[in-house]
Amino acid sequence: MRKKIVAGNWKMNNDLDQTMSLIEDLKNLESKGVCVMIAPAFPFLKISKDLLEDYQIEVISQNVHQKSKGAYTGEVSIDMLKSIGISTTLIGHSERRAYFNEDDIVLFEKVRCTLDAGMNIIFCFGEDLKDRKSNKHFDIVKNQLENTVLKLKKESWENIILAYEPVWAIGTGETASPEQAQEMHQYVRNCISKCYDESVSESISILYGGSVKPSNANEIFSKKDVDGGLIGGAALLASDFNEIIKVNS
Ligand code: PEP
Repeated sequence: MRKKIVAGNWKMNNDLDQTMSLIEDLKNLESKGVCVMIAPAFPFLKISKDLLEDYQIEVISQNVHQKSKGAYTGEVSIDMLKSIGISTTLIGHSERRAYFNEDDIVLFEKVRCTLDAGMNIIFCFGEDLKDRKSNKHFDIVKNQLENTVLKLKKESWENIILAYEPVWAIGTGETASPEQAQEMHQYVRNCISKCYDESVSESISILYGGSVKPSNANEIFSKKDVDGGLIGGAALLASDFNEIIKVNS
């Protein structure tokens, strides 16, 4: 059975006090049957992990560097994350692609190195508005996947979660309709099935991300190929995040 997952991407929000206070509020989450994850900023990963030691909330990172160590000022390695007990990271978020020029070549390198090191990944992908308007969204997504995760061996898929995040819906208040989300998730599952087989495609959790909030979560998550969500803005408020999780339980 596929895992239901709700992951909160806190992005570059919250200082230490705000991080601790949001974590305190999250301790009352009602998360029956749902894997809950949060991705605070790098400086607060360790304290977040410590604070959540006795809770069923996984602390994950928003990014990782592909090189193992060396002169890469400002970057964080896989081993650094592992040394503080982080075992899952986002890779390929559209903000990393757009603002930090992370292309498919870099992303494949990140994916490969992270999985080789025994970590899990949430791999994000999705088309921008221009591609959607010109009806190229399926081709764009297929290309993003073929250049990265679809190059991997079948065994690697045990450690992969996918997140479809149409760029035009991220942080814009504009959400893909439940039908648009379902259509893309089903398409992605078919691509995986063709490349490997149904045992892989049916076991992969595919999350939807893009302006999910308590008011639209139910409709989106009720679609058969949507296995939960990657949540940005609404993950910064414990009550909203909790509502979104409850929809999945
Ligand atoms: C995200 O950044 O992954 C995201 C989905 O953001 P938001 O929910 O704010 O659109």
